[in-house]
Parts: sequence; C-alpha cells; structure tokens
Amino acid sequence: MSLLPELFDTHAHLHFPEYADDRAAVLARARAAGVRGMVTIGTDLATSHAAIGLAAEEPDVWASVGVHPHDAASADEALLAEIERLAHAPRVVAVGEIGLDFFRNLSPRDVQTDVFRRQLALAHRMARPVIIHCRDAHAETLAILAEGRVGEIGGVMHCFSGDVEGARRCLDLGLFISLAGPVTYKNARALPEVARFMPADRLVVETDCPFLPPEGYRGKRNEPAYLTVTAARVAALRGEPLDRLAAATSDNARTLFRLPQEDR
Ligand SMILES: [Zn+2]
Ligand SMILES: [Zn+2]
Repeated sequence: MSLLPELFDTHAHLHFPEYADDRAAVLARARAAGVRGMVTIGTDLATSHAAIGLAAEEPDVWASVGVHPHDAASADEALLAEIERLAHAPRVVAVGEIGLDFFRNLSPRDVQTDVFRRQLALAHRMARPVIIHCRDAHAETLAILAEGRVGEIGGVMHCFSGDVEGARRCLDLGLFISLAGPVTYKNARALPEVARFMPADRLVVETDCPFLPPEGYRGKRNEPAYLTVTAARVAALRGEPLDRLAAATSDNARTLFRLPQEDR
C-alpha cells in the first residue's frame, strides 16, 4: 500500500498547448503526488482529437470528447457527427464538456442550448456519462438535464459553483458533483458548505487545469499535482482524513467513468 493519498483528477486539459513544452514533467509530478488517474477533456473537435491522442499514450489518462458551450457556434451537423465518431475511440469515457455558459456568452444562448441538447442525445446513443459545464445558467442547465433524462446515463457537474440547494438538485438528477480550486479560495462563497453537505459517494475532485489553480498557486498555470491542495481542503472541511477522502473520491470517479475499481 502506498503512503500517498490516491487521487483521481476528473477534469484536466492536459492536451492543451500550455503543456506543450513540459507535459512529461507535469505527468511525472502528478504521479509523484499520488494522482492515479486523470481524464483529459475535449472542448471542440481539435481538442477532442488531441485528448484521444494523449490518452492513447498514457496508461493513467482517459479522454472525453465534446463541444464546450463557448464553441457551440462551430458545432454544425457534420462536426457533431465527427464527435460521435470520436466517442467510439478507445479510452473515451465520457461526452463533455458540454453545457451552458451564460456568463461569457461566447456563442449565442439559443445555439448553446441546441448543441447541449444534441450532445446529451449523443451521450444516450453512446451510453456514456456526461461532463457538464454550467456558468450563470443553473436553472436552464438543470431543466435540460432533467428533460434529457441524464440519470439514465449519469454524469458530473464539473467545477461546481452553486450552493447547497443547487447541489441537492444535481443529486436528485443522479449527478456527481466535482469540486475544483475555488473551494480553497478565501472567497469560496457557498462551496465550503457544499463540501460539508455532499454525501461521500457522490463527490469527486478536479483541477480543471491549466485553469483555476488552488490557493497558493493563483496566477500560475494549474496542473494535476496541485489536486492535493484541493483534496486536503475538502477533507479538512468535512473533518475527515485526507486518505479517506482521496480513496472515496477516486472510487467515485471510477464509478462515474465506469472504470475498474482499484484493489486496496
Ligand atoms: Zn468548464
Ligand atoms: Zn474544462
């Protein structure tokens, strides 16, 4: 048995150009920090291809494919057909990240909504869980997920930013909730309360790297090794030892992505 807590980063963008010069070192630091699994997340057609390519090379990296709400305007019929084709590739464990972002509105809202619905349908055809991005669009996102029967395929609300009531509604839909770096911030809003509230079998953690570094690394490029900071904060908020929180969230990640559980 290893002395390190075994962690699983459910949401990273390791194939992004931010890691072009030192990706091997980033992965080595993740492994040295106890990160035993990572899912690298596509956001458009090119990055979905890149995610599959990286997962093919690294035994502890899996991929997801999908079109981010920022890129929804690029998602015509042909592109979505290509995403569906990619979803069959080996080591693709989810469809995402998909959802709504009414904060930045980089694609028109009606287009975001349409592309989100179509990718939910795609995930149903593939029988794959979904990775949901939601910013300033909680009511709309939850309504689409309910109407799209997300409970039948499963999924995760990534980088959860709501309150306990919002978390309860995600749980009612059958979703996992993923906490990221913001739970460590001084202005963590309702996230500490959410961390304490979450049932142990529905919580996962993530970095969303290269974005959202935890406290202590703010202003820098994030990477999976820093997941230890977020996990330690969540464990402290819940009043449980880090190794227990790490084991539970890793088991949950493997359940979410339908990967074999680790022997312990
Ligand atoms: Zn996101
Ligand atoms: Zn992301």
